[in-house]
Amino acid sequence: MLDKVVIANRGEIALRIQRACRELGIKTVAVHSTADSSLKHVLLADETVCIGPPPSSQSYLNMPAIISAAEVTDAVAIHPGYGFLSENADFAERVQRSGFIFVGPPPEVIRLMGDKISAKEAMRAANVPCVPGSDGPLGEDGDETLKMARSIGYPVIIKAAGGGGGRGMRVVHSDAALLNAVQLTRSEAGAAFGNSTVYMEKYLEKPRHIEFQVLADAHGNAVHLFDRDCSMQRRHQKVLEEAPAPGIPHELRMKMGARVAEACREIGYRSAGTFEFLYENGEFYFIEMNTRVQVEHPVTELVTGVDIVKEQLKIAAGEKLSFRQEDLVLRGHAVECRINAEDPRTFMPSPGKVDVWHPPGGPGIRVDSHLYSGYTVPPFYDSLVAKVISHGDTRESAVARMRIALTEMVVDGIKTNIPLHQELCQDAAFLLGGTDIHYLEKKLRL
Ligand code: ADP
Repeated sequence: MLDKVVIANRGEIALRIQRACRELGIKTVAVHSTADSSLKHVLLADETVCIGPPPSSQSYLNMPAIISAAEVTDAVAIHPGYGFLSENADFAERVQRSGFIFVGPPPEVIRLMGDKISAKEAMRAANVPCVPGSDGPLGEDGDETLKMARSIGYPVIIKAAGGGGGRGMRVVHSDAALLNAVQLTRSEAGAAFGNSTVYMEKYLEKPRHIEFQVLADAHGNAVHLFDRDCSMQRRHQKVLEEAPAPGIPHELRMKMGARVAEACREIGYRSAGTFEFLYENGEFYFIEMNTRVQVEHPVTELVTGVDIVKEQLKIAAGEKLSFRQEDLVLRGHAVECRINAEDPRTFMPSPGKVDVWHPPGGPGIRVDSHLYSGYTVPPFYDSLVAKVISHGDTRESAVARMRIALTEMVVDGIKTNIPLHQELCQDAAFLLGGTDIHYLEKKLRL
């Protein structure tokens, strides 16, 4: 097993990784900014290294500082978590060149899947269905672009090849708006992602967001851990997730799962990853792959019994997957609510001191959070402060347990979106299951 791992992240995921390391007997190094010295995992780590001032550009995105921290502490590997440098192929490469193990896929695979155009190309080659579209970058010829949009059929969506975090996309309904939209998306993408390449897709009007979790080792073994439904979104950001996706025929689930596991073998994937799809009228359409652990991984852990972060670490240590596809069974249903430090109505971030933190408990409840009473949520980072995950034999039972958990939970001192989740857990359409990706925003507008 790995001897010592640098956790190059913060908040709940850093604590999650630390717990997995501890279980495997791995020592941990918490690297943190000056704003984060009182983070829970920093207080609990075997060793800590301050890597810079509060802005992430100077700390959690500071590659030389993180790699130096691994050097001075004699660590053997770096786990990037999610966000920050987790999908940065250059970082993965620099980690490896400096003699450390990057807990994630090989850099060239991150690069392949990080560009949405090359990712779609690779998926088409692996027989994974994709959203119909330009099958490549849009060129400078306006007439060609117009022709393309007409043949795909409006509405279309212009997307940045290097986009992420729900940014760099624009929906177009007519010829009149098309070329202007392409130019705008291009220049925004150039400024935001340093890559102004854009492509075109059919804009699906009422899809659901359904994704498949995979695990692959360095020995050519790959499995899928079934699906998750992450359709409850605001501004393309997931709010509540569940596993499995309600109402998907089990045969179709297993067929798509087998396809993505096969795709992993074809592209030489390694570690944990997620294939994201839009699902409409009984069809799956690949949109992108996340080459890292995701925020919503716990719902899959609860329905499969697999510890995804421990598996990532074991795979990074060169171990073979200890189970086969046939060993994996779906047990019950799980729901995750992302608790953010924000105003439940205006969604304005609400950092500050947490006076009282009282997490919920009881059967089927898991809470992943770095909060403790007296902790101050700094204003510099993502507002996710806790994930409440519930598990039950049925979807009804998982939702009922979530409702109780949200009522028990106390976070005093800062505002959170707990009231929004309480409302969602009573919502008639949510209770039926299978709402589309626009449902939450429409509901919020009412
Ligand atoms: P990001 O990397 O920024 O998360 P994605 O490609 O995963 O970008 O898309 C994010 C979200 O944008 C999707 O979950 C969906 O809500 C919406 N979206 C993306 N492509 C399409 C499309 N072709 N039709 C409709 N909605 C789309």
